[in-house]
Amino acid sequence: MWLRWACMFGIVWANVGFSKSSAQLPTGWKQHDMNRARPAVVTPGAPNLPLAPPSDAVVLFDGKSLDAWRSNDGSPAKWVIHDGVMESVPGSGYVVTAQSFADVQLHIEWASPGKVEGTSQGRGNSGVFLQGLFEVQILDSFDNLTYADGQAAAIYGQYPPQVNVSRKPGEWQSYDILFRAPQYGDDESLQSPATITVLHNGVLVQDHVRILGPTSWMQHHPYSKKPDRLPLSLQDHGNPVRYRNIWIRELPPPQVVPPSIPYDPIVTQLTEAQRKNLVGKYNQVNGGVWEIKSKEGKLYFIVNGPSMEMIPHGPDEFGLRFTAGLMKFALDESGKPMELKFSMGGNEMLARPSTK
Ligand code: MG
Repeated sequence: MWLRWACMFGIVWANVGFSKSSAQLPTGWKQHDMNRARPAVVTPGAPNLPLAPPSDAVVLFDGKSLDAWRSNDGSPAKWVIHDGVMESVPGSGYVVTAQSFADVQLHIEWASPGKVEGTSQGRGNSGVFLQGLFEVQILDSFDNLTYADGQAAAIYGQYPPQVNVSRKPGEWQSYDILFRAPQYGDDESLQSPATITVLHNGVLVQDHVRILGPTSWMQHHPYSKKPDRLPLSLQDHGNPVRYRNIWIRELPPPQVVPPSIPYDPIVTQLTEAQRKNLVGKYNQVNGGVWEIKSKEGKLYFIVNGPSMEMIPHGPDEFGLRFTAGLMKFALDESGKPMELKFSMGGNEMLARPSTK
């Protein structure tokens, strides 16, 4: 029997023991290698589910209807609802959201069957497919030996989870997933791959991993240009897996450094005499002392410790180099300060030069 399996799956047999040295994928491993280290088991904290959706979430399943879902061919979803949960029906096919998404935050709660049947990949298997392409594996991985890149919370066939935080069969578990869709150039070449971050039962298990391409069983598929927005799907893998409380938030683009800083649009050079006039201590009307010092042709504003470089907008107005504050002086005819208003964070504070 052992030999027969080895002959039938010659390619698998050939991999055993050699997968690292003949690795062809950027992970350093061939897919589904049983030699790849399985993650350490971590016991999650006490359940705190369900987690209610925030006000800007699109609720995909609230326990009452499958209106947000379809079958792959566009016909009504064939999964069933009972007791406030939706359950995959073996052989019914995937369910797919009617709405399409790009970058998202997804919360999803799931439970594998309480009665353990099957082994390895045949035990409580389903999956969350971001954009219908990238699977975060769902599996009963509580004391269930399988390949590391196929257990619960793996990016299937690519990245095992950092740790195994699985609850017992039948217990409700959660995934919180942050997904950034792949980006393509005008020539349809890949500009940046999809990335996925996953918390399994509140524990980080995938940390912004760069997805190698659409996930697949025993196949490596490179990226090919797809629409920017695609539906989310859930897998029918022949096991009755239950879902509840599914919500999703569309994310804005990642923050980028602006090409220019919007502060201090006008910066002037002051004479040494103008700078000198401002140097000194200032008594705050409500108590406290500020100070302005001059050093190597620059002025510094000292407030309760921090020393901030002053950026002159003119003789009587200054911004600060790294802080969104504004200083406005009232100057007399000779350019000497009579008072200083400093505004920051919605507050305006007044000080007058110390006469001491
Ligand atoms: Mg699966």
